[in-house]
Amino acid sequence: KLSRRLEMIMELIPEQSRLADIGSDHALLPVAAVQTGQVVQAVAGEVNPGPFKAAAKQVAEAGLQHQISVRCGDGLAVIEPGEVDVITIAGMGGSLIASILDNGQDKLTDVQLLILQPNVGEDILRRWLMEHGWLLTSEKILEEDGKIYEILTAVPEQEDARISSRLLYENQEWPSSSGDGNFTVTSELLLRMGPWLLKEPTPVLMDKWNSELDKLHSILNSLSASKLESAEAKSSQLKQEIAQIKEVLACLQ
Ligand code: SAM
Repeated sequence: KLSRRLEMIMELIPEQSRLADIGSDHALLPVAAVQTGQVVQAVAGEVNPGPFKAAAKQVAEAGLQHQISVRCGDGLAVIEPGEVDVITIAGMGGSLIASILDNGQDKLTDVQLLILQPNVGEDILRRWLMEHGWLLTSEKILEEDGKIYEILTAVPEQEDARISSRLLYENQEWPSSSGDGNFTVTSELLLRMGPWLLKEPTPVLMDKWNSELDKLHSILNSLSASKLESAEAKSSQLKQEIAQIKEVLACLQ
């Protein structure tokens, strides 16, 4: 049975897609997506021999070799340009996902949808998408087995589209929770917290950022015990960051 995380990723794949799942590990996602009929043809890519063998075994046991091609290689090197419509990359850090996309840009020309699930470093990935002509179209957040995951989708940005990356990430003025005036939610903060997640906040989003605040507070505490010269500047930067996140959370409540 698929984890809730993989199930949510699968639900985002359009019917009749040709899919590449990069870093597929046991190929659970492409196998399930082909079995439901949602995906007609899939590539399961793996760079490491262990997971590659596990993927090949899984696909053979499901009897799906004619529909799922298991390939060993780095990132998007396993696909040809125009071979797939949808790419999923899940369960890795955001910077690794961004570097896989960056190294494989020639393979992305005909791709219509990216479904990405970074474990950390979501801001790095959002920034890569924004800077490389991919419009973030949705964000989901879920908690499973004590871990919180974000799932991002992106499509090629069109110049005449109603919404653009520029609009999505431009500074926003929010009424301050204290009632006196506005405060600015900066592009930086939107890249970090997720512009769509902030539009429709859920309890899981609040949990995530409350625990991020705990981490930032403990860094702040260790900085205040430090005698390093740079500690003071770092502390005041951190305090500002904490204040901004708290202000956003207060407005969401
Ligand atoms: N995608 C599955 C999921 O979300 O459950 C598996 C995630 S697993 C934690 C990450 C997988 O990515 C590993 O099997 C690893 O071998 C693979 N991987 C890491 N870097 C890769 C790369 N550059 N190209 C292809 N696969 C990669």
